[in-house]
Amino acid sequence: MQQEAPAEGATGTGDPLEVWIDQDLCTGDGICAQYAPEVFELDIDGLAYVKSEDDELLQDPGATTRVPLPLLTEVVDSAKECPGDCIHVRRVSDKVEVYGPDAE
Ligand code: SF4
Repeated sequence: MQQEAPAEGATGTGDPLEVWIDQDLCTGDGICAQYAPEVFELDIDGLAYVKSEDDELLQDPGATTRVPLPLLTEVVDSAKECPGDCIHVRRVSDKVEVYGPDAE
């Protein structure tokens, strides 16, 4: 059986990933919340924030949450499409950005 390995293929290590948003650059268009509403949500201030694994909106600027593996593609697509270039996806282990404006 052929297996897909999105995390390993995506990061090269299979490490868990986390995501955070730089609200200073968020345009509030809501693309991320459309792609991955389980991870991103617009708050009443019109800016996007990440949500915890318990579905709680983390309203501290720059708050970080784990990327659920089944939603990796949606989160990565959000980072790629984000007009503010302000979605950062990084490895939990060493905080190296793997998707987003600071990724190599
Ligand atoms: S896609 Fe980027 S700019 Fe648009 S709401 Fe989400 S974080 Fe903000």
